[in-house]
Amino acid sequence: MSTSTRDKETAAAALNGSTDRPSNFVRDIVLEDLKTNRHGGRVHTRFPPEPNGYLHIGHAKSICLNFGLAAEFGGKTNLRFDDTNPEKEEQEYVDSIVTDARWLGADWGDRMFYASDYFDQIHAWAVQLVKAGKAYVCDLSAEEVRKYRGSLTEPGIESPYRNRSVEENLDLFERMRLGEFPDGSRTLRAKIDMASPNLNMRDPVMYRILHAEHNRTGDKWCIYPMYDFAHGQSDSLEQITHSICTLEFEDHRPLYNWFIQQLGIFPSQQIEFDRLNLTYTLLSKRKLLQLVQEGRVRGWDDPRMPTLSGIRRRGYTPEAIRNFCAAIGVSKTNGIIELAMLEHFVREDLNTRAPRVMAVLHPLRVVIDNYPEGQVEELEAVNNPEDPNAGTRKVPFSRSLYIEQDDFREDPPKKFFRLFPGQEVRLRGGYFITCTGVVKNDAGEVVEVHCTYDPATRNGNAPDGRKVKSTIHWVSAEHAIDAEVRLYENLFATENPGDVPEGQDFTVNLHPNSLEILTNAKLEPSLAGAMPGDRYQFERLGYFCADLDSKPGALVFNRTVPLRDTWAKIEKREKGKSG
Ligand code: ATP
Ligand code: MG
Repeated sequence: MSTSTRDKETAAAALNGSTDRPSNFVRDIVLEDLKTNRHGGRVHTRFPPEPNGYLHIGHAKSICLNFGLAAEFGGKTNLRFDDTNPEKEEQEYVDSIVTDARWLGADWGDRMFYASDYFDQIHAWAVQLVKAGKAYVCDLSAEEVRKYRGSLTEPGIESPYRNRSVEENLDLFERMRLGEFPDGSRTLRAKIDMASPNLNMRDPVMYRILHAEHNRTGDKWCIYPMYDFAHGQSDSLEQITHSICTLEFEDHRPLYNWFIQQLGIFPSQQIEFDRLNLTYTLLSKRKLLQLVQEGRVRGWDDPRMPTLSGIRRRGYTPEAIRNFCAAIGVSKTNGIIELAMLEHFVREDLNTRAPRVMAVLHPLRVVIDNYPEGQVEELEAVNNPEDPNAGTRKVPFSRSLYIEQDDFREDPPKKFFRLFPGQEVRLRGGYFITCTGVVKNDAGEVVEVHCTYDPATRNGNAPDGRKVKSTIHWVSAEHAIDAEVRLYENLFATENPGDVPEGQDFTVNLHPNSLEILTNAKLEPSLAGAMPGDRYQFERLGYFCADLDSKPGALVFNRTVPLRDTWAKIEKREKGKSG
């Protein structure tokens, strides 16, 4: 997403209308502004996270939009921390946001800023508004301010402190700053219109008293600007041309514009788009924090979390996330996207880049009675049929193998075509084997399967042309590497986990078994050197990624996503309907 010559060429092409890049209403606004030379040809966006939690997939949508637009038009994007709320913000979050945004591909050059860098200027602007008679110190409590505000159907009531003199306001505001008053005892409010149909215009609070240490400004301040009196001004200071935010800020736009007008500062243009919502997922930092604090997950980067650090650990790629964000686009109405669609883009990307290997998650021993004791053959296996450059590798074959318990039935149901007594199947990349018998333990469970193999089928085909109905994966028992494998279900069991029965908490919707840990998986030996973050397709089982906890000798894998693509199916069905 960095600005390159190619991006600029694309930008030029876009301006001439000669690109077939799919557009959206935000991009159309930018195009129009470029045409009319509204900002002298500049495109300057920003991504403004509050450092009160880790970035999630919803933030990815915003990052892709902001950085993508600027890159397309040869512009710039700032990273700005909206750190006006010292009680909830921490350095850990700042650090994780930098790491995660970079991982996704965001490049802000040397333009990493903090709203707190502007506290002096924002304070000076507050004083300017007091002097102009446009702001006043109010002694109502938060509760009273709320009560006086009125509602959508009733106008508000003016504060009894609204008509204080400029001198008195200047004096009180200065004493607020000096720390003379306790938290919550006074606020500075804009003097706008208590009868405005827009509640945000009914004398909103600009500054509050908060004796709290700020992670960047320390104890310099005991008054802090409200988000609404800091965000727009920060945009102006950075000369942001297009200030792109989510729809819930639409009603705040008149207030931001009022501040811009009163202060005579750079008029950044706010454009609102729809928040990303995903089925089976919650995208609210407050709720994600609760899951972490209550130990419902192993941390912000738990692979079940929708955070960027979580899905990275799970094995999702930045390319897959960017492709997903491009596909969902942006609009003016909030909706909900199928989680299956995100998983589809993960599969589509991993399909081309993840080498295929064999792993057995629930091992069952197979002994090939007619295979010479002690003999080992190195069978050649294709690393990725989707990638001609991926090459081949050797996979050892021997008399004793592991297969999946699921791939064998002593009493097969109808249409079970895998291994059972008397049945012949193909071993992936190797011989045909026929089951001849089983060994059971005292409990009557099958613990070992006996087979014979046909030496003439080494390349996976019978010279006499006979067919088998299935191909199963396997690993050589004596060469297998042990591993822990973690399987995941959706973190939430319900499609809309935000829908909560009266009086209950969203955690009632958590999936009771979203993590299953298998400690006895057997991997083919080529995986011995797998490093954290390495991704593979385990044949027939899905895509897997070596976990951060993984070490050579003690491998741990996360299942990134199973193979079955429900989204592709849905799409096919929808197409069938409309076509
Ligand atoms: P949360 O509700 O998770 O706390 P937020 O909006 O308070 O989200 P911010 O740190 O303020 O979090 O978000 C930074 C930017 O990311 C904002 O511009 C915001 O609009 C955008 N953003 C946050 N969540 C989403 C989402 N679900 N979809 C699209 N953009 C989002
Ligand atoms: Mg926010």
